Amino acid sequence: MSTESATPKKRAKTKKKKKKNGFKKFWRLGMEEFNTGGFDISSDGELVAREGNYQYNIFDIVKKYGSPTEIFFPTVVENRVRDLIETFNAYIKVLGYKGKFHYHYPMKVNQNKEFVLPAVAEGSNLDVASANELYLVKRMLEQERFHNKMRVICNGPKTARYMDLIEELRGKGLTVIPIIEDPVELERMQKFKGPVGIRVDLNVKVKSHWDKKFNRFGFTEDELLDIGKIRNLSVLHYHISSQIEQMNGFIEPLKRAIQLFAKMKEKNPGLDTLDIGGGAGVPYNKQKKFYSGKSLIQKIVKTAKTQADALGIKHPNLIAEWGRYVVAPAQMTIYRVIAEKSVQNKGGNKWYVVDGSFMNDLTDTWALKQKWHVIPINNLHHPKLERVWFAGSSCDSDDKYTHGGVHVLVPKLSDIDELFVGILDTGAYQDSLASHHCLLSSPLKLMAANGEIKVVRKRETPEEVGRQFGW
Ligand SMILES: *Cc1c(COP(=O)(O)O)cnc(C)c1O
Repeated sequence: MSTESATPKKRAKTKKKKKKNGFKKFWRLGMEEFNTGGFDISSDGELVAREGNYQYNIFDIVKKYGSPTEIFFPTVVENRVRDLIETFNAYIKVLGYKGKFHYHYPMKVNQNKEFVLPAVAEGSNLDVASANELYLVKRMLEQERFHNKMRVICNGPKTARYMDLIEELRGKGLTVIPIIEDPVELERMQKFKGPVGIRVDLNVKVKSHWDKKFNRFGFTEDELLDIGKIRNLSVLHYHISSQIEQMNGFIEPLKRAIQLFAKMKEKNPGLDTLDIGGGAGVPYNKQKKFYSGKSLIQKIVKTAKTQADALGIKHPNLIAEWGRYVVAPAQMTIYRVIAEKSVQNKGGNKWYVVDGSFMNDLTDTWALKQKWHVIPINNLHHPKLERVWFAGSSCDSDDKYTHGGVHVLVPKLSDIDELFVGILDTGAYQDSLASHHCLLSSPLKLMAANGEIKVVRKRETPEEVGRQFGW
């Protein structure tokens, strides 16, 4: 647009628009690379979320339903699953990779029905971590909710009940692949009739909070080579970490795993699949560049091909179990700021007290100092900002969010009528880790789909919370 010929009035308008775009950029909204492509600011300075040509005014929604509230967008899960599968398949084709790709959604990342079903609808298989998660698969199967060509990987220690369920579902025609975790399971799996997998604890370190010095999962590489032949072995599995910070954290383990795969294949000719586990990260921090899913997938397929060719083995089928990557951006959590206090001995910072709990609802804030992107839901055009630390509503001194001891900038509360804040990317892990410290109620859960808002989990009443504690 040319401003040369614009009338003064028009010019002023353009300037204003530019300034408003400045706010959008400032709050890191409308940026695909940060998974905020669907967010915008209304002309009244309120947060808007778009889904195709539908849009939701988030401020109007929390005014209507109250807070604390979580809003979940199933189309985000659908789009991300579809895109992930299509991108793997596209690079498999372009690069001439001979193996197949299977995506397995790891249920533990978010077991809410509203999260799992959209993933399944887009062609996702499942990965379960416990007997109770597998029980949900049984329920879906009994309700004829899915095709029994769906494949289910079973991770975690196999208790007797877990093993019975695996056998039961296999009997119903479902492809259930138990991943052998320890020598006891190895022994027990001698009698299992279907394909099995085994987990390796790769001798390689990657940059991430979760790659621990001592890992208790699976077998060491040497142990696997010593075991030699494993009955019905089809899958070699590793899961190195979560929120892996750099692409190399995928490539080094992959190279090492394919070397091991080639050696194990000598004794186990049926071994045809490499399961690379989870670990793909999301840009929680919207200030720093992060690798894209596309470049990551390209590099994975390329590396698998080069490595398998160098070793002269058939290209393995690939399984990815990326959970956080798919569901984190599909939910936001909203609190209302209910009070303001000054932070003693910390020049200028204010405590903004919110009506929910970081410790209960966003447990990773407390457990691993998770950093979030926090934005206002209203007054997004307000020019005066305050440096704040958030305090949760429980009585616990750890119930706070300080952005790693720095601060968060939000509109100055004393200037405005009210302030709601939204925490983005809360769809992964927080729901099942959530707790009831001080018996606070969990947030209301809303689903935004097809232009409509649906209550999917009501706000807990005092009676309901009390009941969980025997009252
Ligand atoms: C937790 C887990 C995943 C998912 O990890 P993300 O980092 O969320 O992708 C996948 N596979 C296994 C075995 C896991 O334990």
